[in-house]
Amino acid sequence: MSRKSIPDHAPEFRRRLLRWFRRHGRDLPWRRTRDPYHIVVSEFMLQQTQVTRVEGYYARFLEQYPSIEALAAAPASAVRESWDGLGYYRRAANLHRLAQAVVREHAGVVPSDPAVLLRLPGVGRYTAGAVASFAYERATPAVDTNVARVLRRAFHPGLRGPGLPARLWETAARLLPRGGRTAWAFNQAVMELGATVCTARVARCGGCPVRSACLTGRRVKGEG
Ligand code: SF4
Repeated sequence: MSRKSIPDHAPEFRRRLLRWFRRHGRDLPWRRTRDPYHIVVSEFMLQQTQVTRVEGYYARFLEQYPSIEALAAAPASAVRESWDGLGYYRRAANLHRLAQAVVREHAGVVPSDPAVLLRLPGVGRYTAGAVASFAYERATPAVDTNVARVLRRAFHPGLRGPGLPARLWETAARLLPRGGRTAWAFNQAVMELGATVCTARVARCGGCPVRSACLTGRRVKGEG
């Protein structure tokens, strides 16, 4: 993927987004750690679940299962019970199976390579990228629904259809800063923008930090 084909407004988008995130990004427990096990737990919990709901569960779960070995050794029924109230219980079963696979096949160390992560239970392309980036600071794209929405509005507002997801992953890879630590911040920042400003319900273009570098935002007049 050539960096030459990066859209003209991409550098400004990156710059503005990173500056905004440094000032306004929420202080979330999984942003204060690079512990791969903790990151995996947070990513499983955050799938289709609000941050505010996850925070309490995350802390309690890690108290109950302080290491990946402790989780792997726990009975499935206990893990299911710890997940009680969080919903989408298949995630708990997958997380448990993932812990067992990591202990059995990777000596208890969560892999850092997205291709290897992808072979673990419950890990799709997004989670593989997120764990590689958020735990190991690898410069890997991670496109969830929030990121997809922001990138579509900012770079491909007219694009629809089956080719869209691949295009968004490509754009995410092109935009990603090369340094792992900055890539970590960039991935977090796009998600944050999608969760708090450029939401599914409303695009708040009027107060958006990247508006001047967004194809949708440039067209909107006044408040978004
Ligand atoms: S300017 Fe509007 S559409 Fe563009 S990223 Fe911001 S909120 Fe989303």
